[in-house]
Amino acid sequence: MHYSKDSNYRKQQLKKLLHILENSEDEILDCLHADFKKPRFEGFLSETNYVIADLKQSIKKITGWVRPKMVLPSLLNFPSTDYIYKEPYGKVLIIAPWNYPFQLALSPAIAAYAAGNQVVIKPSELTPNTSAIIAKIINEVFSEEEITVAEGGVEIAQELLQKRWDYIFFTGSVAVGKMVAQAAVKNLTPFTLELGGKNPCIIDQFANLQLSAKRIVWGKFINAGQTCIAPDYLIVHEKIKQEFIALLKQELQLAYGTDPQLTPDFSRIVNKKHWERLSNYLVNQEVIFGGTTHEETLYIAPTLINEPKLDSPIMQEEIFGPLLPILSYQEFDDIDKIITRYEKPLALYVFSKDKPFAQKIIQHYSFGGGCINDTVVQFVNHRLPFGGVGHSGIGAYHGKFSFDTFSHQKAIVKKATWLDISLRYAPYNTKFVKFRKLLSKL
Ligand code: NAD
Repeated sequence: MHYSKDSNYRKQQLKKLLHILENSEDEILDCLHADFKKPRFEGFLSETNYVIADLKQSIKKITGWVRPKMVLPSLLNFPSTDYIYKEPYGKVLIIAPWNYPFQLALSPAIAAYAAGNQVVIKPSELTPNTSAIIAKIINEVFSEEEITVAEGGVEIAQELLQKRWDYIFFTGSVAVGKMVAQAAVKNLTPFTLELGGKNPCIIDQFANLQLSAKRIVWGKFINAGQTCIAPDYLIVHEKIKQEFIALLKQELQLAYGTDPQLTPDFSRIVNKKHWERLSNYLVNQEVIFGGTTHEETLYIAPTLINEPKLDSPIMQEEIFGPLLPILSYQEFDDIDKIITRYEKPLALYVFSKDKPFAQKIIQHYSFGGGCINDTVVQFVNHRLPFGGVGHSGIGAYHGKFSFDTFSHQKAIVKKATWLDISLRYAPYNTKFVKFRKLLSKL
């Protein structure tokens, strides 16, 4: 049988966690800053405040979420009452990345625990300060059989993947996602993969250019571009391209000043390996803004790159850093030729006041989720599922979707005994076949 304390107990535990998180917020923000100079405001907005809001919602809704849900019965089963019971899977493994290291470890863990599972969290080794505070907080509230934090690197993740789990929730790169899927399949373990991709951002000639530039600069350069749903590259209508570039430069200066190395509002690259990867992308490119790098401090300036060749390295893989390539188009076919080179992305953004054009883009392409006239903010609505499709991921979570992700939905028909229609029993009465049409409507 699965381990599962009753939901009232879990609710109390989640309240205890809330209390500790609220009191440790400053310390958590310090850890995020120590790991890659994440600005405190960004840490608050996208990590601590996000997790606290998520936790408050779980506490408020857990009683309703765990309750069996009555659904309309089928007349074929008359008389019955039908239910969906939510059953915890059992032992859940959560493997988290480094870019939002607090939120992407804690948010799924809270949902998995709320749903009644035993949880093991493997945070990223690339953000050791955040990993340590996650372990400290979790150990303060939960027993080892409830939630455990397994700190460490790739070897620990690999070791954990050798074990048998009832559910695996992975956030990270496509390459590692494939390994996780292989490990899960060996035991037919269900899994969620939250991966990445090359997210296109289209700016039409009929967009509000000033506001589009502001929203794109925010969504691309928050966390120094190390965001899975950041716009990866822009495709701008040729007619407005020069004007738009000027606006992007203006917005970048407004946000980060003339020397972004000096502002406390801009993160650093997480480690040397990623810094080198990103620096190499700059080779042989037309840099029209930024382009400065500093190895010792792992700094890469917010950078605009004009018309990179589609076969250059920067246009081959997910960028995951503060470099923004700008491509152009004249007609829909030009956009199509670019987007269809890549696997289905995690996000897509279109900026336009031309509603049919925006609708066409949104409906024509397959992608995880996105926005019309904004970037990244699809993430904040807990009523929207968050996840990819194809190479950008399998499954989705957030809000109630998270609880459902970590619950098996058990179908139960409670049959009454005061009546038993004999139609289905042998010896069969073939006359009833004539009523097939009627039966199929029930
Ligand atoms: P990563 O795949 O390198 O690492 C993620 C986790 O997997 C880490 O905990 C790491 O220790 C572990 N890991 C690494 N190699 C492993 C291996 N060989 N076997 C088993 N486990 C291994 O990813 P990352 O660099 O931490 O994160 C960046 C990627 O994550 C980007 O591609 C980004 O788009 C994606 N991402 C996706 C989302 C989302 O919600 N869809 C969110 C954030 C990041």
